Amino acid sequence: MANTGRAGEVRHVLVVGAGVVGLSTAWFLQEHGVRVTVVDRDEPAAGASWGNAGWVSPGLAIPLNEPGVLRYGMRALLDPNAPLSVPATASPGLWMFLLRFAAHCRWDAWERAVRANLPLNTDSLDAFDALYKGGVETTATSSPITALFRSPRAAVGLLRELERISASGLTIEHAALSGEDARAFLPHASTGVEAAVRLDGQRYVDPGTLVRNLAEAVRERGGEIRSGFEVTDIHRADNAVVTTSSADEPLCSDAVVVATGSWFDGLVAGHGVRAGVRAGRGYSFTVPTEEPVTGPVYLPEVRVACTPYQGALRVAGTMEFRGPDDEIVPRRVEAIERSARPYLSGVRWEERTDTWVGPRPVTADGIPLVGATRTPGVYVAGGHGMWGLTHGPATGSLLAEHIVTGVRPRALEALDPLR
Ligand SMILES: Cc1cc2nc3c(=O)[nH]c(=O)nc-3n(C[C@H](O)[C@H](O)[C@H](O)COP(=O)(O)OP(=O)(O)OC[C@H]3O[C@@H](n4cnc5c(N)ncnc54)[C@H](O)[C@@H]3O)c2cc1C
Repeated sequence: MANTGRAGEVRHVLVVGAGVVGLSTAWFLQEHGVRVTVVDRDEPAAGASWGNAGWVSPGLAIPLNEPGVLRYGMRALLDPNAPLSVPATASPGLWMFLLRFAAHCRWDAWERAVRANLPLNTDSLDAFDALYKGGVETTATSSPITALFRSPRAAVGLLRELERISASGLTIEHAALSGEDARAFLPHASTGVEAAVRLDGQRYVDPGTLVRNLAEAVRERGGEIRSGFEVTDIHRADNAVVTTSSADEPLCSDAVVVATGSWFDGLVAGHGVRAGVRAGRGYSFTVPTEEPVTGPVYLPEVRVACTPYQGALRVAGTMEFRGPDDEIVPRRVEAIERSARPYLSGVRWEERTDTWVGPRPVTADGIPLVGATRTPGVYVAGGHGMWGLTHGPATGSLLAEHIVTGVRPRALEALDPLR
């Protein structure tokens, strides 16, 4: 039976993983007066939360498992430069995961995932506002996101998806535009762009700075952040949860939240969480532009996201199913650049810096894993895939409420990690 309640009064919680999800959970726990310790095998923002595209975009936080991805994925298997990549040496475990993922690439499963993610989308901006009002410099800028297409026909898929999302209960203000209309407010759209969709009411952040600010805020409010603490096991002993690492003394707390992104399965499998998370690695790099870019740009045809970043442009893309700690594959970076060039002008591509790879924690059904495990006092928060930044603070807020009150918020029902 699911452990949906608290094991006694919760005064001290240990959070494993100092990414956007773990630190948001710690911050919202502090809002309830709970003492927190956050441990990370590395340091805050060492995982996917660092070099991502920085979109806080509930209007676009669409689950990955739409049926088109399957057709696209089959083609991509034959093309080493495609935005979706599975190495020829994939393990049997990865193939099993991909088969389960493929089985969820149906409209009914996609709509289920849209509904499950809906509360995280609706709460997303409020949760960011709560952080900001609570003194965290979130670096958020309000801006539309503009999707660019090389033909009006190519825009139809995104417009249909937006209709489907709207039918599921999330209204997204958007406008279909000609290429010329898009160039009027986004001069970086090249003359090869013939259609665009502008999504209003979105935001973007500098994700690494946001997460470091969040860590600082947790520390300033009395929380402890321990870098270089790699958790190897979590178990219950008497009235406490014991967290062990290979190098340090074990730590005891009333509850533990596992928020280790793509490094998830090993720590949670023993607590009844079977759903599993795989690393869908993405790359990013930074390029200077002749003029500042006015807002985020989405290139759906080549699956690339571009974001104004520290006076330049961060370009992000690719979904590569490899180990989360594998080296950068330079060919994939070249492929992102080559695919994005025709859409943008005024970008100094040859001056690329900050090349980065990070692992998106992907679940097979497109639904995050957030809530209590079978072990009393052990909770998980992960599997947000492409949208962990957008959904991180809302997740932290809901999970903190769950842990402190012992009552699972309705919004977390569909995210049950024991499903
Ligand atoms: C290229 C790219 C672009 C993206 N763009 C966006 C975007 O625009 N908007 C959006 O919403 N999302 C985006 N994402 C997704 C988003 O980055 C992730 O979903 C999110 O960062 C996941 O956060 P997390 O806290 O769960 O995991 P992570 O940030 O990966 O954090 C996990 C932490 O756990 C630590 N850890 C792991 N194992 C252990 C252990 N055993 N003991 C202690 N610590 C451990 C790691 O060191 C790490 O710091 C993008 C991702 C990529 C790769």
